[in-house]
Amino acid sequence: MNEFKTKFNIKTVKYRNTSTEKHIRNSYWKINDVIDIIKKNKFKNKFYKFNNGKTRISTLKNNLFIQNYDKNGMCKCDICGLEAKYVVLEKTKENKTDIYHFNLYTIDKETKQEIIFNIDHIKPVSKGGSSELSNLQLTCVVCNSKKANHYNEPIIDRIKLFFSKILKNLNM
Ligand SMILES: [Zn+2]
Repeated sequence: MNEFKTKFNIKTVKYRNTSTEKHIRNSYWKINDVIDIIKKNKFKNKFYKFNNGKTRISTLKNNLFIQNYDKNGMCKCDICGLEAKYVVLEKTKENKTDIYHFNLYTIDKETKQEIIFNIDHIKPVSKGGSSELSNLQLTCVVCNSKKANHYNEPIIDRIKLFFSKILKNLNM
C-alpha cells in the first residue's frame, strides 16, 4: 500500500485545540500531500492504510477539502480566510476501531494554540439546510462558534415567503 511522501513537522504547536484533546492522534501531514492522495483515490471509496490505522478517502468532508483547495490553491476558512497549515489524522477516544479521519489545523500566531477547521452548514440543518456539498463550507472554529445557529435567510427567500403569505391571505 502507498504511503504519503512527507510528514509535517509539528514542533511549533504549544497548546492542543481544546475541542480535540480527547482525540488520539495518528500522524501529521502536509495539506497538499493529503489532497493529492484523496484526489487520486476519490472515486474508489476505499480505505487507505497508514502506519497503524486506516482512513476512508471518499467522505463528504474530504470532498469539501478538495473543493476548498481547488478554489483557493490552499485550504482556508470560507468566512475569515484563515489558512489551514497541516492535517492531523486522528480519531476520538470513544472510537475503538482502527479508522481515523483527517482534520485541518493551523496555529494561532499569538497564543500558539491550534485552531481546528470544521464543516459548517451554510443554511443550518435545523432550518432545513441539506448536507449536500453545495450547502457546506469550511470554517475555522472561531468563525464556526461565532456563527452557531445565526443564519439570515437570503433576501430572495424572504421575499418569496412574504408574497406567499400575502397570497395565502388573499385566498382566504
Ligand atoms: Zn474563520
